[in-house]
Amino acid sequence: MDLILFGPPGAGKGTQAQRLIDILEIPQISTGDLMRAERKSGSALGKEFDEFMSKGLLVPDELVLRLFQQRLDQEDAKKGAIFDGYPRTVPQAESLDGVLAERDRKVDVVVSIEVGLDEMIERIVHRRSCEACGQIYHLRYNPPPRADACSCDGKLVQRKDDTEEVVRKRYDEYLQKTAPIVDHYKKKDVVKAVDGVGTLDEVTDRIKQAIGGVS
Ligand SMILES: [Zn+2]
Repeated sequence: MDLILFGPPGAGKGTQAQRLIDILEIPQISTGDLMRAERKSGSALGKEFDEFMSKGLLVPDELVLRLFQQRLDQEDAKKGAIFDGYPRTVPQAESLDGVLAERDRKVDVVVSIEVGLDEMIERIVHRRSCEACGQIYHLRYNPPPRADACSCDGKLVQRKDDTEEVVRKRYDEYLQKTAPIVDHYKKKDVVKAVDGVGTLDEVTDRIKQAIGGVS
Protein backbone atom coordinates (compact mmCIF):
# COMPACT_ATOMS: atom_id res chain seq x y z
CA MET A 1 0.00 0.00 0.00
CA ASP A 2 1.29 3.44 -0.92
CA LEU A 3 0.04 6.07 1.44
CA ILE A 4 0.32 9.79 2.04
CA LEU A 5 -0.41 11.17 5.47
CA PHE A 6 -1.45 14.78 5.97
CA GLY A 7 -2.20 16.63 9.16
CA PRO A 8 -1.75 20.14 10.53
CA PRO A 9 1.44 20.78 12.54
CA GLY A 10 0.92 19.58 16.10
CA ALA A 11 -1.82 17.09 15.18
CA GLY A 12 0.29 14.02 15.94
CA LYS A 13 1.07 13.06 12.36
CA GLY A 14 4.60 11.91 13.22
CA THR A 15 3.38 9.55 15.93
CA GLN A 16 0.66 8.11 13.71
CA ALA A 17 3.12 7.60 10.86
CA GLN A 18 5.38 5.68 13.23
CA ARG A 19 2.49 3.45 14.23
CA LEU A 20 1.47 2.83 10.61
CA ILE A 21 5.01 1.69 9.80
CA ASP A 22 4.55 -1.10 12.36
CA ILE A 23 0.96 -1.92 11.42
CA LEU A 24 1.43 -1.98 7.65
CA GLU A 25 5.06 -3.17 7.72
CA ILE A 26 6.13 -0.67 5.13
CA PRO A 27 8.81 2.03 5.48
CA GLN A 28 8.33 5.73 5.73
CA ILE A 29 10.06 7.60 2.94
CA SER A 30 11.09 11.06 3.98
CA THR A 31 12.62 13.23 1.28
CA GLY A 32 14.51 15.28 3.86
CA ASP A 33 16.14 12.18 5.38
CA LEU A 34 16.87 10.69 1.96
CA MET A 35 18.61 13.83 0.76
CA ARG A 36 20.70 14.13 3.90
CA ALA A 37 21.75 10.47 3.69
CA GLU A 38 22.61 10.75 0.01
CA ARG A 39 24.76 13.83 0.62
CA LYS A 40 26.59 12.07 3.41
CA SER A 41 27.20 9.01 1.25
CA GLY A 42 29.22 11.11 -1.18
CA SER A 43 27.55 9.49 -4.23
CA ALA A 44 27.36 11.29 -7.57
CA LEU A 45 23.73 12.12 -6.89
CA GLY A 46 24.62 13.25 -3.38
CA LYS A 47 27.17 15.66 -4.82
CA GLU A 48 24.52 17.12 -7.08
CA PHE A 49 22.33 17.74 -4.02
CA ASP A 50 25.31 19.29 -2.30
CA GLU A 51 25.65 21.92 -5.00
CA PHE A 52 22.14 23.19 -4.36
CA MET A 53 21.87 22.64 -0.63
CA SER A 54 25.21 24.21 0.28
CA LYS A 55 24.05 27.38 -1.46
CA GLY A 56 20.72 27.25 0.33
CA LEU A 57 18.92 26.67 -2.97
CA LEU A 58 15.90 24.47 -3.51
CA VAL A 59 16.81 21.08 -4.94
CA PRO A 60 15.09 20.63 -8.35
CA ASP A 61 12.17 18.18 -8.37
CA GLU A 62 13.85 16.08 -11.01
CA LEU A 63 16.77 15.25 -8.68
CA VAL A 64 14.51 14.46 -5.75
CA LEU A 65 12.53 12.16 -8.01
CA ARG A 66 15.63 10.19 -8.97
CA LEU A 67 16.30 9.62 -5.31
CA PHE A 68 12.72 8.55 -4.81
CA GLN A 69 12.96 6.01 -7.59
CA GLN A 70 16.09 4.50 -6.06
CA ARG A 71 14.40 4.25 -2.69
CA LEU A 72 11.18 2.73 -4.06
CA ASP A 73 13.16 -0.05 -5.72
CA GLN A 74 14.78 -1.16 -2.48
CA GLU A 75 13.46 -4.44 -1.16
CA ASP A 76 11.64 -3.11 1.92
CA ALA A 77 9.69 -0.54 -0.11
CA LYS A 78 8.41 -2.91 -2.77
CA LYS A 79 5.20 -3.59 -0.87
CA GLY A 80 4.51 0.09 -0.40
CA ALA A 81 5.56 3.15 1.52
CA ILE A 82 4.36 6.04 3.60
CA PHE A 83 5.42 9.30 2.02
CA ASP A 84 6.57 12.02 4.35
CA GLY A 85 7.22 15.62 3.32
CA TYR A 86 6.38 14.85 -0.28
CA PRO A 87 4.50 15.79 -2.41
CA ARG A 88 4.34 19.45 -1.43
CA THR A 89 2.93 20.68 -4.72
CA VAL A 90 0.55 19.39 -7.40
CA PRO A 91 3.36 18.95 -9.97
CA GLN A 92 5.23 16.87 -7.37
CA ALA A 93 2.08 14.79 -6.81
CA GLU A 94 1.85 14.20 -10.55
CA SER A 95 5.50 13.16 -10.65
CA LEU A 96 5.00 10.79 -7.75
CA ASP A 97 1.95 9.30 -9.49
CA GLY A 98 4.08 8.79 -12.61
CA VAL A 99 6.96 7.13 -10.78
CA LEU A 100 4.56 4.80 -8.99
CA ALA A 101 2.69 4.02 -12.23
CA GLU A 102 5.97 2.88 -13.82
CA ARG A 103 6.05 0.29 -11.04
CA ASP A 104 2.38 -0.69 -11.41
CA ARG A 105 1.63 1.18 -8.23
CA LYS A 106 -0.38 4.22 -7.26
CA VAL A 107 -1.14 6.31 -4.23
CA ASP A 108 -3.76 4.00 -2.73
CA VAL A 109 -4.87 6.25 0.05
CA VAL A 110 -4.35 9.78 1.31
CA VAL A 111 -5.16 10.04 5.00
CA SER A 112 -5.97 13.54 6.10
CA ILE A 113 -5.89 13.90 9.88
CA GLU A 114 -8.32 16.70 10.61
CA VAL A 115 -8.19 18.87 13.68
CA GLY A 116 -10.03 22.18 13.80
CA LEU A 117 -8.21 25.45 14.40
CA ASP A 118 -9.84 26.05 17.80
CA GLU A 119 -8.73 22.62 18.97
CA MET A 120 -5.16 23.23 17.72
CA ILE A 121 -5.04 26.53 19.59
CA GLU A 122 -6.37 24.86 22.74
CA ARG A 123 -3.75 22.12 22.53
CA ILE A 124 -0.78 24.32 21.88
CA VAL A 125 -1.43 27.50 23.84
CA HIS A 126 -1.80 25.53 27.09
CA ARG A 127 1.32 23.51 26.57
CA ARG A 128 4.13 23.95 29.12
CA SER A 129 7.51 22.31 29.26
CA CYS A 130 9.98 21.85 32.08
CA GLU A 131 13.18 23.85 31.73
CA ALA A 132 15.12 21.21 33.65
CA CYS A 133 13.96 17.80 32.37
CA GLY A 134 11.94 18.61 29.24
CA GLN A 135 8.73 16.99 30.49
CA ILE A 136 5.70 18.35 28.62
CA TYR A 137 2.42 19.20 30.33
CA HIS A 138 -0.91 20.49 29.18
CA LEU A 139 -2.61 22.77 31.69
CA ARG A 140 -5.96 21.06 31.10
CA TYR A 141 -5.35 17.56 29.77
CA ASN A 142 -2.12 16.68 31.53
CA PRO A 143 -1.68 19.23 34.30
CA PRO A 144 1.58 19.58 36.26
CA PRO A 145 1.54 18.57 39.94
CA ARG A 146 1.77 22.21 40.98
CA ALA A 147 1.15 25.39 39.05
CA ASP A 148 4.36 26.44 37.30
CA ALA A 149 6.50 23.60 38.65
CA CYS A 150 7.42 20.20 37.30
CA SER A 151 7.49 17.03 39.41
CA CYS A 152 11.28 17.47 39.32
CA ASP A 153 10.88 21.04 40.74
CA GLY A 154 12.04 22.49 37.43
CA LYS A 155 10.41 25.66 36.21
CA LEU A 156 7.63 25.31 33.63
CA VAL A 157 7.86 27.56 30.63
CA GLN A 158 5.85 28.21 27.50
CA ARG A 159 7.71 27.89 24.23
CA LYS A 160 8.00 31.16 22.39
CA ASP A 161 6.22 29.71 19.33
CA ASP A 162 3.30 28.31 21.30
CA THR A 163 1.06 31.32 20.86
CA GLU A 164 -2.33 31.62 19.23
CA GLU A 165 -0.92 33.90 16.56
CA VAL A 166 1.78 31.42 15.53
CA VAL A 167 -0.66 28.49 15.59
CA ARG A 168 -3.11 30.37 13.36
CA LYS A 169 -0.39 31.29 10.91
CA ARG A 170 0.98 27.73 10.68
CA TYR A 171 -2.51 26.33 10.32
CA ASP A 172 -3.35 28.69 7.46
CA GLU A 173 -0.09 27.88 5.73
CA TYR A 174 -0.76 24.19 6.09
CA LEU A 175 -4.26 24.46 4.60
CA GLN A 176 -3.07 26.61 1.72
CA LYS A 177 -0.26 24.23 0.91
CA THR A 178 -2.16 20.96 1.21
CA ALA A 179 -5.57 21.91 -0.20
CA PRO A 180 -4.50 21.67 -3.87
CA ILE A 181 -2.77 18.32 -3.30
CA VAL A 182 -5.73 16.91 -1.42
CA ASP A 183 -7.97 18.10 -4.27
CA HIS A 184 -5.70 16.36 -6.77
CA TYR A 185 -6.20 13.08 -4.93
CA LYS A 186 -9.90 13.68 -4.26
CA LYS A 187 -10.39 13.48 -8.00
CA LYS A 188 -8.91 10.00 -7.80
CA ASP A 189 -11.25 9.19 -4.92
CA VAL A 190 -8.52 8.08 -2.53
CA VAL A 191 -8.78 10.71 0.21
CA LYS A 192 -9.94 9.60 3.66
CA ALA A 193 -10.59 12.30 6.23
CA VAL A 194 -9.92 11.12 9.77
CA ASP A 195 -11.04 12.96 12.88
CA GLY A 196 -7.82 13.80 14.74
CA VAL A 197 -9.46 14.77 18.02
CA GLY A 198 -9.05 12.12 20.70
CA THR A 199 -6.37 9.95 22.22
CA LEU A 200 -3.51 8.63 20.09
CA ASP A 201 -5.08 5.17 20.17
CA GLU A 202 -8.46 6.45 19.10
CA VAL A 203 -6.94 8.27 16.15
CA THR A 204 -4.88 5.21 15.18
CA ASP A 205 -8.04 3.08 15.22
CA ARG A 206 -9.83 5.57 12.99
CA ILE A 207 -6.94 5.54 10.53
CA LYS A 208 -6.92 1.74 10.51
CA GLN A 209 -10.64 1.76 9.81
CA ALA A 210 -10.28 4.35 7.06
CA ILE A 211 -7.61 2.35 5.24
CA GLY A 212 -9.17 -1.00 6.07
CA GLY A 213 -11.05 -1.22 2.82
CA VAL A 214 -7.99 -0.27 0.78
CA SER A 215 -5.62 -2.93 -0.43
ZN1 LIG B 1 11.06 18.58 35.14
